[in-house]
Amino acid sequence: MSTFDLGLQEGTIMSSEQHMREALALARDNIKAGGRPFGAVLIYQGQVIARAVNEIHSTQDPTCHAEMQAIRQASRVLGRPDLDGCEIYASGHPCPMCLAAMHLCGIRRAWFAYSNDEGEPYRLSTADIYAQMARPPLQQEVVLRPMKPADEEGLYAQWHAGQASGAA
Ligand SMILES: [Zn+2]
Repeated sequence: MSTFDLGLQEGTIMSSEQHMREALALARDNIKAGGRPFGAVLIYQGQVIARAVNEIHSTQDPTCHAEMQAIRQASRVLGRPDLDGCEIYASGHPCPMCLAAMHLCGIRRAWFAYSNDEGEPYRLSTADIYAQMARPPLQQEVVLRPMKPADEEGLYAQWHAGQASGAA
């Protein structure tokens, strides 16, 4: 694993282990900054294009997980929402939100250093949420129920028609 070279271009000789070590260093720096112990680096064509940490402490935004922040940075760098071909190295096991974000943007490969089991004693595991997500939506603890006013219709068709005609 440590000798697996992701570099696809001349001059990019960072190994996968080096990428993970950088994610872990980011996580440790974030502890010093008063944040949670999570860091992530995002790789595209062998190059690091995003480095991020969990920023909940500084933003009060609960979605600012390291992987989410890395995805946000990478989409700005590449100028597109499709991150197909990108890979993430995360210091901790991604939570369901971050894993879902990877699905949504086309990231096919990710690695983590610390497992949910290792996070459990410190309340840093998201295994409980994974268990929730594995249930059918209507059986999860979050109350999620359909509610469409009787006269409501055509939202998606309206969007689709706009796409077809080239309108925004
Ligand atoms: Zn997450």
